[in-house]
Amino acid sequence: MLHIMIGCDCDPDRPEYGGDNHTTFDGLRRAIADIGASSIPITWLVRSDLEFPGTMFRSFGFEALQAKGHELAWHCHFWRKGPQGWYQECQDLGWLRECITEGYQNAYPARPRFVRTGWCFQTPFTLRLFAGLGILADFSCSPDMVSHATDTNGLPVDRQNWLGAPTRPYYPLGADSQLLEIPTSTYPFSLIKRLTRTLRTRTLLRRGSVGIAGDPLRVRRCFAELLRQVKAGRDPVYFLSYIHPDAMLAGANSGVAENRDDLRNNLRMIEQMAQNERIPFKYVTASELYRIVTISSGEGPVQTSESYE
Ligand SMILES: [Zn+2]
Repeated sequence: MLHIMIGCDCDPDRPEYGGDNHTTFDGLRRAIADIGASSIPITWLVRSDLEFPGTMFRSFGFEALQAKGHELAWHCHFWRKGPQGWYQECQDLGWLRECITEGYQNAYPARPRFVRTGWCFQTPFTLRLFAGLGILADFSCSPDMVSHATDTNGLPVDRQNWLGAPTRPYYPLGADSQLLEIPTSTYPFSLIKRLTRTLRTRTLLRRGSVGIAGDPLRVRRCFAELLRQVKAGRDPVYFLSYIHPDAMLAGANSGVAENRDDLRNNLRMIEQMAQNERIPFKYVTASELYRIVTISSGEGPVQTSESYE
């Protein structure tokens, strides 16, 4: 059995998708009306942090989605507005703490159990804060993803470092903590790509990110590897990917990284790939995936106390 979880990070529309400075949510409304009406249960990760209190999303119609089997979880960003504009706060521990604790207090729905951070940013410090709030699992880990990016003004954005992180669920704070890290799916680089990426970044990189609403070749390589794992007897095996709701505003020829056409085609493609191999699959939500990886009779979570930041 292959379990498939699709998450939706409920962010505002990005500028390249028609958004205006962190203010509009046309993509989210479209996504709720569109993929919310499909038969695939989505895990909607609702923003709640110092920029957007989760309670402001009460009127978006999430209750109706929950009644249809969808699930709500928490998406916590670390956007901060400075004199030069918005940037990703990574250093100010007091501010990060406030962002997480305020975000939790204003989360919708209340007392979330599952979280994924903006830009997949976590450090041992932030993970301990989430664990202290009773979070059961973090879905931020993106194995081998490393980014020290800045925007055109030189401000930090999209920062993360998951170099060498496991591709299987693991306990980043050690087995004494209940907080489980459930890594997102990635694809294995070819030898040539591995060499060129490693030379360019001067870091040994083995895997790349996969977006279910993005590049079909990456999705195919990732999913083919998972199907091989199922055939080899590994259990549990899951495919975990995310969309941003503004992808629903764009078609495949709009020149943006995520779009609704690739989302539909990629979902059709992975279902067909599984059927061709006669491997059963099931769409699951965050709490179902958490249950599957923790109570599995096969390979459970990796016991490690390593945190990646
Ligand atoms: Zn986000």
